[in-house]
Amino acid sequence: MNYDCLIVGAGLSGLVCGIRCASEGLRTVIISGGMNALHFSSGSIDLMGYDPSGKVIQSPCRYLKQLEEKKPGHPYSKVGVKTVRESMEFFKKQCGLAGLDLHDNGEENHFHITGLGTMKPSYFSQKSVFNDRLKEAYERKDPIAVLNFDGFRDYFTALTLEQIRGLPLLRGVRITTGKITLPYYFRTERNLHEFRSIDLARVFDSEKYLPRIADEIKKAAGGARIVGLPAFIGIDNFGWIHRRLEDMTGLLIYEVPTLPPSILGMRIDRALKTRFADLGGELSAGDKVFGGEIIDGMLDHVHTENYGSTRHRSRFYVFSTGSFFSGGIRSEFNKIEEPILKLRMSGSQERSKWYSESFFDKKGHPFLSYGVDTGKTLNPYGADGKTVKNLFCVGSILAGYDPIREGSGGGVAISTGYYAAGKIISARKKADLA
Ligand SMILES: Cc1cc2nc3c(=O)[nH]c(=O)nc-3n(C[C@H](O)[C@H](O)[C@H](O)COP(=O)(O)OP(=O)(O)OC[C@H]3O[C@@H](n4cnc5c(N)ncnc54)[C@H](O)[C@@H]3O)c2cc1C
Repeated sequence: MNYDCLIVGAGLSGLVCGIRCASEGLRTVIISGGMNALHFSSGSIDLMGYDPSGKVIQSPCRYLKQLEEKKPGHPYSKVGVKTVRESMEFFKKQCGLAGLDLHDNGEENHFHITGLGTMKPSYFSQKSVFNDRLKEAYERKDPIAVLNFDGFRDYFTALTLEQIRGLPLLRGVRITTGKITLPYYFRTERNLHEFRSIDLARVFDSEKYLPRIADEIKKAAGGARIVGLPAFIGIDNFGWIHRRLEDMTGLLIYEVPTLPPSILGMRIDRALKTRFADLGGELSAGDKVFGGEIIDGMLDHVHTENYGSTRHRSRFYVFSTGSFFSGGIRSEFNKIEEPILKLRMSGSQERSKWYSESFFDKKGHPFLSYGVDTGKTLNPYGADGKTVKNLFCVGSILAGYDPIREGSGGGVAISTGYYAAGKIISARKKADLA
């Protein structure tokens, strides 16, 4: 197999990279071994939510300009603010083309309600999670009902209520909770208490149940104007179903992220994979890259578990294999490594230095910013310390940032994936002209 670009890992960063490469006509393949972090995420995209003291950032791009000077090793500083901006526009457009509309707040963060009832700063949210009409309704102090489905165990309205009542934006607002009882015809042979969000999302996807669900929502809302529901308003037809439910109930309905599996994250995953396929990209799912060979500073080929000794070749390669969570970085008792090529890592190999004593330490845990070390152009270094010129590392495999403390995971994945694609496209164009 000969490709222009071979990407390892179909998470947010690999998919963005693949879509951009394929959209420029490059022969692109993504090989991916398992589920990505989107299936566990809130489904909102965080660009930069908090500064090192924990203070909320209103305007992430303005903040990133300062970061370029203060932290040149941060992935955002490497790709530059201009690329970050462009990448976010690109991502929004690609999601829109696949039918997933995102809300933004110009270049400012917006604040949406989480499953725990807190307000979280994000750059993009799905329109069923946050939109301008909801913002106005919150500001008008319209009454809110936080609803759950009877028997659904992955969402806790009592917990949400306790938190949400303390939010400054909602001070003085009447907030109630309620339960929606599933009509008898939803019941299957399975125990109702085994239902997960994915089962319920499938129920919502079917138009025939909507009138009954709408009646139940109206009843449970008890006079509230805004209704929060756990996020499973459909997995295929979500935009249409959300609008239909709002029309049928006359209420403003917002979705709240629940425990995994995350329906909101799965929508992004599906949208990006659809775009990649539409553009002619090839996805080899369920296969794992386990090794490869670097010859004279260039990655020559990689091997996968399904094809054993077959050499998969490409002009350029991208590792978007994620962090510890997805196996892009692996830890053993006293060792942290990148498992495919043993690329140079940034971070201590001494176990006692990986974590802070207190779980809730304000400084976070050092291991969260460990990862593969790269130069400014995101090319990593091989085990011999030499740059691998035709390989780029993107997303959460990268060192130099803490996605949890900063609230920056989605933004780093998108901007670095987009950046690497840009480098590959221009190198490919230069080679064509030569
Ligand atoms: C629980 C959780 C919640 C989060 N919530 C948010 C949020 O609300 N907002 C936000 O902006 N960010 C959030 N993030 C961060 C953000 O989702 C991630 O930073 C981002 O999605 C990472 O994307 P990625 O492409 O780098 O890696 P991943 O999504 O981890 O994808 C890596 C992929 O590579 C595959 N892979 C690994 N090794 C191999 C191999 N050898 N061969 C083939 N395939 C391989 C994996 O199976 C996986 O599919 C969250 C992260 C987690 C873990």
